[in-house]
Amino acid sequence: KESRAEKFQRQHMDPDTSTVTASYCNEMMKRRNMMVGQCKPVNTFIHEPLHKVRAICFQGNVRCKNGQSNCHQSSSKMRITDCRLKKGSKYPKCDYETQQLQKSIIVACECVQYEIVHFDGSV
Ligand code: ADP
Repeated sequence: KESRAEKFQRQHMDPDTSTVTASYCNEMMKRRNMMVGQCKPVNTFIHEPLHKVRAICFQGNVRCKNGQSNCHQSSSKMRITDCRLKKGSKYPKCDYETQQLQKSIIVACECVQYEIVHFDGSV
């Protein structure tokens, strides 16, 4: 079974992409299986090496959107791409808007091996 850390990497990690095109989200949301049964409405991909993202677990502790206290905010800005489902887009034709950004990101970490399990947002 896919672990929560593996799921985070499938849904959010894309370190190797240097050029993000307008069709990036449509391709990646499909390739990473986020168009199964429904279109995932919003999702962020992170274009930084995994070691840099894992290191966020040792950076500033912040409260998560769900009230838990295991979220951490990156001390530096990171290259990310936000994918947002376009209005009127209906499953199985999931059509996304692709937006490249440089922002500080917030992730949830679980103490076993300090693995990241959830993307909480960007600021
Ligand atoms: P994402 O939120 O990264 O888009 P999911 O919602 O599929 O992806 O998975 C998040 C996972 O992380 C869930 O299994 C959830 O139980 C776990 N988790 C651990 N800590 C938190 C937290 N503080 N907030 C939200 N989810 C958390």
